[in-house]
Amino acid sequence: MHPPDGLGSWPARRARIDASRTALVRPDGTGVGYGELAARVDRLAGALAAAGVGPGDRVAQLGVNAVEVLETFFAVWRLGAVAVPLNHRLAGPEIAYMLDDVGASFLVSSPDAAALAAEFTGPRLEVGPQYEEAVAGGEGAAHPVGLDDAALVLYTSGTTGRPKGAVLTHGNLTWNTVNQLAHVDVASTDRVLCIAPLFHCVGIGQITLPTLFKGGSVEPVAKVDPGAILARIGAAGITGFSAVPTMLQMMCDHPGFAAADLSSLRVVQYGGSPVPERVARAWLDRGVTLQQGYGMTEASPGVLMATREGSPAHPVAVGVPHFFTDVAMVRDGEVAPLHAGPAELLVRGPHVFAGYHGRPADTADAMLDGWFRTGDVLTVAEDGWATVVDRVKDVIISGGENVYPAEVEAVLLGVDGVVGAAVVGVPDERWGETGVGFVQAAPGAVLDVDALRAHLAAHLARYKVPKRLVVVDELPRNATGKIRRTELRARAEEMP
Ligand code: ATP
Ligand code: MG
Repeated sequence: MHPPDGLGSWPARRARIDASRTALVRPDGTGVGYGELAARVDRLAGALAAAGVGPGDRVAQLGVNAVEVLETFFAVWRLGAVAVPLNHRLAGPEIAYMLDDVGASFLVSSPDAAALAAEFTGPRLEVGPQYEEAVAGGEGAAHPVGLDDAALVLYTSGTTGRPKGAVLTHGNLTWNTVNQLAHVDVASTDRVLCIAPLFHCVGIGQITLPTLFKGGSVEPVAKVDPGAILARIGAAGITGFSAVPTMLQMMCDHPGFAAADLSSLRVVQYGGSPVPERVARAWLDRGVTLQQGYGMTEASPGVLMATREGSPAHPVAVGVPHFFTDVAMVRDGEVAPLHAGPAELLVRGPHVFAGYHGRPADTADAMLDGWFRTGDVLTVAEDGWATVVDRVKDVIISGGENVYPAEVEAVLLGVDGVVGAAVVGVPDERWGETGVGFVQAAPGAVLDVDALRAHLAAHLARYKVPKRLVVVDELPRNATGKIRRTELRARAEEMP
């Protein structure tokens, strides 16, 4: 059998089927057809090769979601080089750490990230006239690329520690695409928005690659402006999008949500962090089909996914395994078949990464008998649908009892006027650990701590109720909407 080649050939392969269909859409609404994309990618690859980029080189990328980010991915992939899209919302020293950690030898950046781009001293290409000149003038180039070659180094969100660079191969991303297509109805007539950032696995793996594989169009969204996105859906006949839950929340809380024309939407996908039930319900109540995905950078990212039909009955559950994904659980420190009670989920499949870049010890720690340890505690219902309980590292052990912060947070999020909640554990002499709850009120809402405490006591066992509750203006979140718990833990520990 002759195996397929890498992702860099996708635009040209798709162009043989439908060259004139729109592949990518620019902010002004103009499109780049598959034929044009294939030609631009080929010439950009030539220009990058002429600038010294070769197989295995890591090409860092900085900038907001844009057509050029995707063109650069494909050009880098054609050369057998490795794309490293970095989070443009990080601070200079964080970017400097990643550039060094990954050993970047070239940078492609857009003017919006000019300040961060200054952290890099090597050769570069800036999106704008210089980039267009490279695309116009480059002579085509390509290197043979196999499925086991590295395609991306994608940094994890850094929720539980320093971000780690997950090495994803061409094969990993190809199999994740196949998995997505087996689970989600993607068509060549689709026109989707990529709202999730393209430096994160949700933006790349959940929607962009599967849509381009099928010949649909992808419109990268540079700025998360809920009103503008709601308007765009109706104006452009958008059939789907992929977002992280905070973005879904911003949109359904927007005053324009109730009247927005959402009739063209066939499916909205989301994942990456827990979704408040009220948010999922708001979208379901507008007649929108939802499919929640659960995964992680290391799995390219899809592991579990809700089905179209099952979502309304399971608005917060994360569904069933992807087609080529095996899952198991840890029981007594060993690999065991899926079981009902809360346990750490293990995942195995052709989409699971090749390891952390330059960190063999971290890679070894993350594996158990060939399975990837997700670090997440899940439960599986009788119908086979899994629910994320919490991260192993976030579990609070208070007086010997396990308290899952996510369970407490879900109860807090059920209170009118609460738009965000986070419970963290702090050391306690008597109980080992106790919970401190941070609650974010909706703009203009006034929250009464005693009433919140009474509500918690009415819904939860006493040991689960945080010893302290603090109302805050805003919870600290990272670029993908995840709560920065380390920051809250530090804050809680400093409290008198
Ligand atoms: P780090 O690994 O650096 O600590 P991270 O795990 O947040 O950061 P990502 O790979 O972006 O980095 O996120 C994957 C994690 O996000 C999963 O392990 C899980 O904890 C969480 N997650 C993903 N999808 C969902 C979901 N649908 N519901 C709840 N949590 C989710
Ligand atoms: Mg992780």
